Amino acid sequence: MKTYSCDDYDPNSLSVEEALRSIDRDLQPIRGEEQLAIRNALGRVLAEDVLSKINVPPHDNSAMDGYALRGADLPTEGKTQLTLVGSSLAGQPCTETIQAGQSARIFTGAVMPTGADTVIMQEHVEKQGDTITIGAEHKPGQHVRPAGEDITIGQVVLKAGKRLQPADIGLFASLGIPEVKVFRRLRVAFLSTGNELCALGEMLQPGQIYDSNRYTLHGMLTRLGVDFVDMGVVRDTPIDVENAFLSAASCSDAIITSGGVSVGDADYVTDTLCRLGKANFWKVAMKPGKPLTFGKIQEAVFFGLPGNPVSVMVTFYQFVQPALRRMMGQNKATPARFTVPCLSPLKKTPGRMEFQRGILEYDEQGHLVVRSTGKQGSGILRSMSHANCFIILPRDCGNVAAGSEVLVEPFDGLV
Ligand code: AMP
Ligand code: MG
Repeated sequence: MKTYSCDDYDPNSLSVEEALRSIDRDLQPIRGEEQLAIRNALGRVLAEDVLSKINVPPHDNSAMDGYALRGADLPTEGKTQLTLVGSSLAGQPCTETIQAGQSARIFTGAVMPTGADTVIMQEHVEKQGDTITIGAEHKPGQHVRPAGEDITIGQVVLKAGKRLQPADIGLFASLGIPEVKVFRRLRVAFLSTGNELCALGEMLQPGQIYDSNRYTLHGMLTRLGVDFVDMGVVRDTPIDVENAFLSAASCSDAIITSGGVSVGDADYVTDTLCRLGKANFWKVAMKPGKPLTFGKIQEAVFFGLPGNPVSVMVTFYQFVQPALRRMMGQNKATPARFTVPCLSPLKKTPGRMEFQRGILEYDEQGHLVVRSTGKQGSGILRSMSHANCFIILPRDCGNVAAGSEVLVEPFDGLV
């Protein structure tokens, strides 16, 4: 076992990777699918592979404005003359069949006339009346986009597990597909625990704070595209916590709580979960967000997040979001992470993986660099608001000197 000169290393704690693997092992995609009009399917997850019923493009067509002809008519040397017998415009194909010695005017995207297999750009043609003259510098088959070049009939265009983006909706439309089968929406219940929490609109009494976690959770779940039930604030008594958990389990696929998971006197989350279902209580070697409860009540998956506002967000993005995506049927995505120089010195004690908050920007030379948002306390929600990325510092690393390379995970795409 490794030893550290500091006391932040806890031999009973789980690494972030172990916690992620353990959660992943316990989850399956939800059952239940629905057929939706493609416009309503944005952000939903495909429940089956989508095959193309047509070729894209559907016909051989011209890549240029010019003249369509038979490649066999191209001169190998000198020049040749061809007779114009028709024209092919987008949406108005040529009705003539192109015979030897003939050609047709054609425009970009227009269907190749029967018999023609080659297009000469208009700039390379001399035209006089119904006769065109072409030289020897062309190749048979040039400037033609063959039918099925993009997609062929029967080809899988998108696989089950794809979360649908605007481009996907357009792709379905381009294939003439009006509806697709997607997973039903995931139902998530969430609540805050804590006797100190005050509702918005009420005056703060001594010792009270406003409940912010339910608002960040509401935002994060909205972005994720789930159906949710806001169960409000639950008082720190065993009976209130139990009633809230049972009612959440009866209406959801997943439950998310904040607060009450440390080992303080008023922390009933894990105890209640143990009584009602199955519980794992983990000390995850991460900062912020050390205590984390993961389990199940009846059919609902349970995530007990710590109470501190930044811990809620970090544990949500690192554990809950990938887990919910898996339950939504989505394929696993590798988080976008890369290294950049860090302009600020960073304080770090070895023993826990840290998710510090950073601002990623271009310096005057146009290089991408990151700097710290400043104070990194797990209660400082402003740090998340000002940040546009996590700076991820590995478990074993200590203080980081200014100018060192650090790993960052941009919020764009993550949040
Ligand atoms: P706990 O884990 O319940 O001891 O909470 C840890 C810290 O987070 C305490 O300082 C709480 O007051 C604070 N906290 C807990 N829940 C919330 C919430 N919903 N909104 C804002 N802060 C909270
Ligand atoms: Mg509490």
